[in-house]
Amino acid sequence: MSDIIQLLPDSIANQIAAGEVVQRPASVVKELMENAIDAQCTSIQLIVKDGGKSLVQVIDNGVGMSETDARMSFERHATSKIRQANDLFALRTMGFRGEALASIAAVAEVELRTRKHDSEIGSHLQISGSNVVSQQATTCTAGTNIEVNNLYFNTPARRKFLKSDSVELKHIITEFQRVALAYPEIEVSLTHNGIDLYRLQGSNLKQRIVGLFGKHINQHLIECGTRNTIVNIEGFVGKPESAKKGAGEQFFFVNGRFMRNPFLHRAVMNAYSRLIPDGTIPTYFLFLDIDPASIDVNIHPTKTEIKFEDERTVWQIVHASVRESLGKFTLAPQIDFDNQVDFEIPYFSKNASASAPRVDINPTFNPFEEEGRSFASGGSTEAVQHTHPLSPDMHQSSNGQLSIQTFKSKGFGGSEPEPAMRFFNVKGRYILTTIKSGVLVIHQQRAHVRILFDKFIGEVDKMPSQKELYPRTIELKPHDHSVIIDNIDILSQFGMEISDLGHNTVSVSSLPANLKFAEPAKLIDDLVLMLTDEYVDFTQSIREKIALSLAKAAAIGYSKSMGNLEMQDFVDSLFACKLPSITPDGKQIITTIEMDELDRRFK
Ligand code: ADP
Ligand code: MG
Repeated sequence: MSDIIQLLPDSIANQIAAGEVVQRPASVVKELMENAIDAQCTSIQLIVKDGGKSLVQVIDNGVGMSETDARMSFERHATSKIRQANDLFALRTMGFRGEALASIAAVAEVELRTRKHDSEIGSHLQISGSNVVSQQATTCTAGTNIEVNNLYFNTPARRKFLKSDSVELKHIITEFQRVALAYPEIEVSLTHNGIDLYRLQGSNLKQRIVGLFGKHINQHLIECGTRNTIVNIEGFVGKPESAKKGAGEQFFFVNGRFMRNPFLHRAVMNAYSRLIPDGTIPTYFLFLDIDPASIDVNIHPTKTEIKFEDERTVWQIVHASVRESLGKFTLAPQIDFDNQVDFEIPYFSKNASASAPRVDINPTFNPFEEEGRSFASGGSTEAVQHTHPLSPDMHQSSNGQLSIQTFKSKGFGGSEPEPAMRFFNVKGRYILTTIKSGVLVIHQQRAHVRILFDKFIGEVDKMPSQKELYPRTIELKPHDHSVIIDNIDILSQFGMEISDLGHNTVSVSSLPANLKFAEPAKLIDDLVLMLTDEYVDFTQSIREKIALSLAKAAAIGYSKSMGNLEMQDFVDSLFACKLPSITPDGKQIITTIEMDELDRRFK
């Protein structure tokens, strides 16, 4: 009886492996860029054509390869990164399976030019469907330049599964962004069909994020980080109000490698609960550094999934760290007002109506508290400390922070009730008060915008619209015109009566009452943006826009002196807002001057 088992020829084994490693042009991008990183380059140029289907080319200035290594690199299980099984547990490089180049070369026409910095002559290698077509000495720049042409040229069935160029390009951009984020110090560029999509200098993480996602993102980033023996975390999370409907800007990196981890994603989502509307996802860029021996990244061939030895603990650390940075940012739940314990006697007598709170939002709102407390207008005296088990610094005394305004100091013996908390008004612009950790400063005008915004946002739908005396005629760009015309109905629900005059012209006959848009053209621009952005819920953002515009128009000017009671009431109202520390358009309302900063000034 003859034996029937045979070894698969390498070329077939490689094609099978390719199915796992090379799912689409973006997988080639990922593998080649990771190889460039592993080769310690400081610059990577990515050049693609037709969504990567015709060409994916990566040029790096890394260490390069010798003639033999150049040839060897295409062998299966050829890797310079591990020599023995133990190395696997100490790896910090991107690749180590030694499969990528072999797999890619099995399903494409590959050209490699590479030279080590200390050798004069480089190698030029052509491989087509695993067959070496030619190898010769060449002159080329130091580093590696690899071209992957006509992906799946020899497996047409697979080629058919590729999506349109634009979809494939989108995947490529995603991979590019992941590498670009993980290595902000490396100069990177991406060119598609001759057009530069990105050209980014080496920089720090924040600049890199801005380079990739646009200037607007800068104002939404909150720093996030923690160091301990289990895992170090650094990076940025988005401000709650920048959370978006769709996924897209969520990035976890573990030891410099992008990772998908639904479990940790939930840790972040959980930290945002009650801070963002349901159905939205916050932006985050979180970099975890952890002992490679305590993770297993090799569970998935494309290596974007990871298993932690101690998953629960990592979860808790990520969670606590995000919560802490959000806490610092939203401030309110963190502010530990000075003498909170001392103020236990309600200051207001029952008939004192002068400063009955005007806002009926729950002022004790604490995003981290499991159960909201109701608002007692005289001020309840319970001062509850919520301390997160993992984060001893996070004191949230939701009532303490508010009770101070309405209570009198025990030590204040006079017969006339006196405001317990002292607020100081600085030139009608700032309100100062003391907190445990130092001095709290409130920007009065911005605070008022926040207070009014929170009030108006619930009333937008009920506001009457106001007829313009003379309907305004506006000429629009053709695209904007069609967007506006398509949405005339929804706009009219918000009190904007717009009619089509043809020839890209519209007439605006009414606007929401008191809505003072500086420029009708600007208004149209904003509307078009809101209507076409797939991430934006139009009705919500138009509400916000109207409420903000009203709030800005109605807010007090830049200098208005207030009396003590007035200030108390004002600060009450501010802290009744969900996000008291920033205006709806992202400007800072509150700052603190820490004690040690004060102390330093008296050295
Ligand atoms: P792996 O990265 O898992 O080792 P690859 O198939 O991606 O496997 O690469 C095989 C080997 O080829 C690498 O280990 C490395 O030695 C070499 N190599 C690949 N790309 C480059 C590059 N851009 N610069 C220098 N060496 C490279
Ligand atoms: Mg590799």
